[in-house]
Amino acid sequence: MSFSSLGLSPALVNAALERAYLEPSVIQAEAIPAILAGRDVLASAPTGSGKTAAFCLPLLDLLRKRPPAVVRPATRQVHTLILVPTRELAAQVGETLETLTRHLTPSIKLAVIFGGVSINPQMLHLRGGADIVIATPGRLLDLLAQNALQLADVRCLVLDEADRLLELGFAEELTRVLTTLPASRQNLFFSATIPLLVAALANKLLNDPLRINLEDGIKQSQQSPQRPDSDDVDGSGDRNTNAANGTSTGNVPDITQRAISVDAQQRTQLLRHLIESEKWPRVLVFVATKYAAELVAAKLRRARINAEPFHGELSQGKRTQVLMDFKASRVKVVIATDVAARGIDISNLPVVVNYDLPRSSDDYTHRIGRTGRAGESGMAISFVCADSANEAHFRLIEQRHQKKIVREVIGGFESDGSITAATELISDSNGGIKGRRPSKKDKLRALASKEQEEG
Ligand code: AMP
Repeated sequence: MSFSSLGLSPALVNAALERAYLEPSVIQAEAIPAILAGRDVLASAPTGSGKTAAFCLPLLDLLRKRPPAVVRPATRQVHTLILVPTRELAAQVGETLETLTRHLTPSIKLAVIFGGVSINPQMLHLRGGADIVIATPGRLLDLLAQNALQLADVRCLVLDEADRLLELGFAEELTRVLTTLPASRQNLFFSATIPLLVAALANKLLNDPLRINLEDGIKQSQQSPQRPDSDDVDGSGDRNTNAANGTSTGNVPDITQRAISVDAQQRTQLLRHLIESEKWPRVLVFVATKYAAELVAAKLRRARINAEPFHGELSQGKRTQVLMDFKASRVKVVIATDVAARGIDISNLPVVVNYDLPRSSDDYTHRIGRTGRAGESGMAISFVCADSANEAHFRLIEQRHQKKIVREVIGGFESDGSITAATELISDSNGGIKGRRPSKKDKLRALASKEQEEG
């Protein structure tokens, strides 16, 4: 299949080729024709499967084909709004769009706006409007409050990592943004995980959407791939696909999942041991708190391992620098909170480690999806501490992923304690694991993690 057969114009096919996108990935093949036809889309597709280009390519084509009267937006007006949950993701989507638009005529004006940096250059840049604004919700609201832009003419709203944006932590800000948008617009919601509750919420915002549900390939990775043309299309035109397409951006991320049973106190030593014995060139390590990120990075540095922390309390300059250095292999180990769990695209990242287990099975999907992107293979290792709650929590994650992962024990790092019977844990339909309904504590945690992400 080719990009042109999806209805993209030659200029966009060339733009894709320039990024070495030779043929569409599954999500691109499904979404592009529908977006070009002006439909709303609610799409879930695995991490690293090419979701960004799946909405960017057709959006740019639609923008190019606008009637001349609306080619340049009126002062401070915006044509397309792309909302993302983190600053890094805003920058990344902006970079993708920047390369895709480089040779397009008429030119397309992009504005990337996020917090943690001075607002003034962003205000200046927004003078005269922008064709596409890529924003985190908090800074967008600040700019709206300063009348630096208006959203009354937005024709298309994209929620990238839609489930995160529709969650509690962002609910209030998202609602405020939505009230500034015209009711009649195209809506495109994308994520690797769309829990049922969030899908119900999304449906209220969508107008007769095409639902694309490319099953989580991580869950399916033990099964034999089916042919790409075996999609089950029910009468509604909605797509349910569980096949790899055999291209470099197939639907099934090739991620080997491992779990190591370890004494909680020995995790840093185990991490150090693995980095050295398995000779990982680079590794992204997830921890639960910024404190742990700082502490583990400091301990590794003392052992002469080039490690940096990455969390929401760092200055934006530092966050950008660490990510740049990591991508360029100038930093070997990044110890991150979940601020790095979503969307960030690091090519050739061979290993992700869950030093602390993620809170939910959806967070697990996003974390391990930082490796094994765009057809590469990767490895995800989870440290499971030998206490009953930790073990039970990981079992629940396994259940959700319909996967049993053998617990490895590495001599010298095992716990003396035995694992007691799994504690009964209650799961919620959000992929959360700690209670039937979000408790006050959950709500505070959601807000805190959101603040950490967006700042
Ligand atoms: P995304 O899921 O949008 O973050 O994309 C994951 C990676 O796949 C990125 O590095 C993209 O540049 C790459 N990619 C996206 N579409 C294609 C394609 N059609 N062919 C090859 N690589 C792609």
